[in-house]
Amino acid sequence: MTSYDLIIVGGGIGGSALATVMARAGRSVLLLEQSLTYQDRVRGEWIAPWGVDEVRQVGLYDLLLGAGGHHLSRHVTFDEGRDPAAAEAEALPLNIFRPGVPGPLCIGHPKHCQTLFDAAGAAGAETLRGVTVTEAVGGAAPHVTFEVGGETRTATARLLVGADGRTSQVREAAGIALHQDKPHHWFAGLLVEGAEGWRDDLQAIGTEGDFGFLAFPQGGGKVRVYGGYALDEARRFKGDDGPRRFLDAFAVSCSPENRHLVAGRPAGPLFSYINADSWTDEPFAQGVVLVGDAAGWNDPIIGLGLSITYRDVRIVSDILTAGDDWSTRAFAPFAEERAERMRRLRFAASLQAAIDMEFGDAARARRHSYYDRGAVDPSLKMHGIAVMAGPEMAPPEIFTEDHRARVLGAQA
Ligand SMILES: Cc1cc2nc3c(=O)[nH]c(=O)nc-3n(C[C@H](O)[C@H](O)[C@H](O)COP(=O)(O)OP(=O)(O)OC[C@H]3O[C@@H](n4cnc5c(N)ncnc54)[C@H](O)[C@@H]3O)c2cc1C
Repeated sequence: MTSYDLIIVGGGIGGSALATVMARAGRSVLLLEQSLTYQDRVRGEWIAPWGVDEVRQVGLYDLLLGAGGHHLSRHVTFDEGRDPAAAEAEALPLNIFRPGVPGPLCIGHPKHCQTLFDAAGAAGAETLRGVTVTEAVGGAAPHVTFEVGGETRTATARLLVGADGRTSQVREAAGIALHQDKPHHWFAGLLVEGAEGWRDDLQAIGTEGDFGFLAFPQGGGKVRVYGGYALDEARRFKGDDGPRRFLDAFAVSCSPENRHLVAGRPAGPLFSYINADSWTDEPFAQGVVLVGDAAGWNDPIIGLGLSITYRDVRIVSDILTAGDDWSTRAFAPFAEERAERMRRLRFAASLQAAIDMEFGDAARARRHSYYDRGAVDPSLKMHGIAVMAGPEMAPPEIFTEDHRARVLGAQA
């Protein structure tokens, strides 16, 4: 039986980042990851400007840049009925949202995880892979029993951290309830290679017909693309030729540049998710704290899971390094901040989903009305500030039903 300050279950973004920060702070950490290699599971590869600030604050920014992270500098919103050249002429510069942050940061998720996992080991954490956790217990004497390399081990700690993603075993074991919104649309993602023609600094979103698309270049001719479509089209991209048909759906007239995506090749799996938000009331219990998706996740339509996770890591590591009080009382401010953060982001995501991922004549008319009115009244676009600059940067009245009705007009 070995004993640590922290046992962290899950060596993805949140677990490996927290392990690195805490090991650097001189705490003993055991980091347990179930996979043997990080695979493309269609997870986040775009960090919002406010998330980049969080990465900086926990001291991991140079590490990510060194691992190939690169910044995007322009955003274009395309839409059917809108001249593509006019849309490009109104490209949004992405360096305006946080002081000193040149724009969102893109890095492949498997590379991102491996870089952080290695950093945790280099900082002194004990890191294990290929681990099967058979028991995770919080309470007054937190401990974990796990199998690795044919052996069964039990380890104890002052605190057990659940960083084990959406289906968190630690959350379940601690009896922390997960709440979930109703799904709104399907959201599928694919890594494309051979798309060298797509400009390396340009992110784009757009809606045409029955398809909403997003594109985030990863460098080296690779682009992470996402597509949204109606809930009743569950089988739309199923089958062996699903990835090819998915890429063909990017052939839209409102964004001629999409031809570079259509000309590309699938470089990973195509996974589809029912989009939805989820949250926990209190992401902790005695002897246990949750970070990242384990604590509840935001609808990926606004791409903030990594930023949320890095903020969790900053706040939790600040609490853990501030003193010796690791009781539930110490985590109450984390729960309070996270509840309001996720409430605001849930609102922003549902508004964005209504704008980008609803299809048909009425939705199109509403979208165009929003763009026209937004051009003269920028306050209608304020939820975008929450997405890019941080949820606390938009005024509270933005996250109300009144604002929703103003944005979506009579059909809200
Ligand atoms: C389609 C889609 C698109 C997205 N796009 C974006 C985006 O553009 N930007 C963004 O910021 N976010 C995005 N996200 C969200 C983002 O990927 C997640 O919020 C983020 O990866 C959460 O990090 P995490 O460390 O909590 O979880 P994960 O990255 O899921 O890592 C969890 C780790 O725990 C391990 N694990 C799980 N169970 C166990 C166990 N029992 N024992 C040991 N190890 C275990 C897993 O193997 C994994 O390595 C997207 C999500 C989806 C689904």
